[in-house]
Amino acid sequence: MIIAIDGPSGAGKSSVSKEVARNLGFSMLDTGAMYRCIAWQALQNGASLDDEAALGEIARTYDIEFEHEAGNPQAVGVLIGGVDVTSAIRTAEIDRSVSKASSHVAVREALVAQQQRIGRAGDYVVEGRDIGTVVFPDAAVKVFLTASNEERARRRVAQNAERGVGSTDFDEVLAAIVRRDELDSSRAASPLVAADDAVHIDSTAFTMQEVVEQICELAKKAQA
Ligand code: C5P
Repeated sequence: MIIAIDGPSGAGKSSVSKEVARNLGFSMLDTGAMYRCIAWQALQNGASLDDEAALGEIARTYDIEFEHEAGNPQAVGVLIGGVDVTSAIRTAEIDRSVSKASSHVAVREALVAQQQRIGRAGDYVVEGRDIGTVVFPDAAVKVFLTASNEERARRRVAQNAERGVGSTDFDEVLAAIVRRDELDSSRAASPLVAADDAVHIDSTAFTMQEVVEQICELAKKAQA
């Protein structure tokens, strides 16, 4: 069974996905981390982020692996081409670059195929931007998770502080979030958009636990 959780950056998708997966005994797939890996590798190779052919080649040829530890549905490590990029893909530079990298059809085709292969192997909570629309249009549960721009910026600052990577300047983070949303929503290939049959949850007014409970309820109904 697939639970698709889409929405803009900082809406709480990762924290919510992790807790939903833990409650239901599902695995979790962070598709944003995969696009971040491609942006990182492109910068590493000196490829222009506009070079669709080069980025498509990277997406088709470099292996992306997630490291897991028992009892934790969220991957504890991410590797591309055997290099551990767990922290390197969370920098402000990657925040700025990733939307460009993810806008290319060639990149999306390669990553979507991998995401479908991974998700079909079991019960997954899959978070991203196009999961309910493109990657798993038949997902049993589809959620479109949002929150106000300010709340999302506040959460991203806290997350960056906790991880010790990325900007902790509120105004800078807010501007970056708004810019990334615009790019992700306006691109031609699989833009950030809610599936027609997605349940919209605005998490601004709810605690994380309340959002998790709502989604677990939806999953139980879908299972019944
Ligand atoms: O979720 P996260 O903020 O880590 O995603 C990073 C970027 O990856 C997004 O801004 C978007 O450009 C891209 N992405 C995407 N499709 C997905 C997941 C992420 O285009 N399914």
